[in-house]
Amino acid sequence: MKLAIEPKVFSDESLNSWLIRGSIANGSDPRSFYIALWEEYKAWNKDLDKHLPKQQAYSLAKMTALTPEEIKNLTLEPYLQKIINKPLNPLGLWYFLIPRGKRGLSQTNGMHFCSECLSDSTPYLKRQWRLAWNIGCPVHKIKLLNRCPNCKIIFSPQLLKYDTPKMYLCSSCGFDLRDSRTTPANGKALKFQEMLNNAIFNAQTTSFPALHTQSLQDLFMTIRSIIPFLLHTYKLKKYHLFFETLSLDISYMEENKIMNVFEKMSTDDREFLLKLIYQFLQSDLKIIKKLLQQLGTTNKAFLSKPASMSPTILYLSKYLKNTNGSKIENPKQYVIKPNTKDEVNRLYCELLELI
Ligand SMILES: [Zn+2]
Ligand SMILES: [Zn+2]
Repeated sequence: MKLAIEPKVFSDESLNSWLIRGSIANGSDPRSFYIALWEEYKAWNKDLDKHLPKQQAYSLAKMTALTPEEIKNLTLEPYLQKIINKPLNPLGLWYFLIPRGKRGLSQTNGMHFCSECLSDSTPYLKRQWRLAWNIGCPVHKIKLLNRCPNCKIIFSPQLLKYDTPKMYLCSSCGFDLRDSRTTPANGKALKFQEMLNNAIFNAQTTSFPALHTQSLQDLFMTIRSIIPFLLHTYKLKKYHLFFETLSLDISYMEENKIMNVFEKMSTDDREFLLKLIYQFLQSDLKIIKKLLQQLGTTNKAFLSKPASMSPTILYLSKYLKNTNGSKIENPKQYVIKPNTKDEVNRLYCELLELI
């Protein structure tokens, strides 16, 4: 069987977006369309933008003009694989991939959209809108949104019904999302966002003075592991020297409580962190090393899981005080103190990533 009508895929389109447009073009709703394509594979429960199993990619390729490889390249797996040197677990949470939203759950993030891009003659969803470093639209210079401003439900185009088959309509209340109120995105954050998009999608790398190597993995995993470090240390008075010397403006953190892991943060929190990290990456690695040594930073501060995948953090850790070593030498002097509530919450969020 071949699809009666097959929409032409856009070069930056997500798999789910192409399938939703396919279902609309063929007079169906996405859910019935998925059943027609894959029968018992419950695609509406799966995150198709993230990963599609080989078997489903092959059966889809038989019905369309695309090869299984081209279908895989519509998912984010091949791109996020570039920044991790071990196979990605399709069932796990992936660094930088915004978890897909569930209807009715206010804590989820999911697919974002640019309300002005949805006004194009053929609206579609872009792959990069699922990646946590994307906070705005580089064309329209506005912040991305992730929920209907009318009913507050998470944007869920895969739940559109056959009688309201428009990508720009809220699947829950029918509100025209093109009429959403928008806010401008910060220019520096957008610039850094596009550098990262170019690095991962177009293999255009940019070198930063703060990095020890120029690999993609170093760039992305240093970003990912410096976030919990910055969120933790800004509360410590002695680290004001660190933030001041590197010209890092942390006033946003003093006014707003950032609690979640990066992938689950609000667009505003992520926009702030992008600006902060962009500034951090432009600092000299030697100065960062000296500052950390001066402040007596221990390598324990960098023991999060993403840090073990960052060559820059591993390099810096070699010059920091080794807390593990001193624990073994003086076991009796090691006092276990209870963590603060904030710290427990932060660790819990980090832990959730690993489950
Ligand atoms: Zn746009
Ligand atoms: Zn709505």
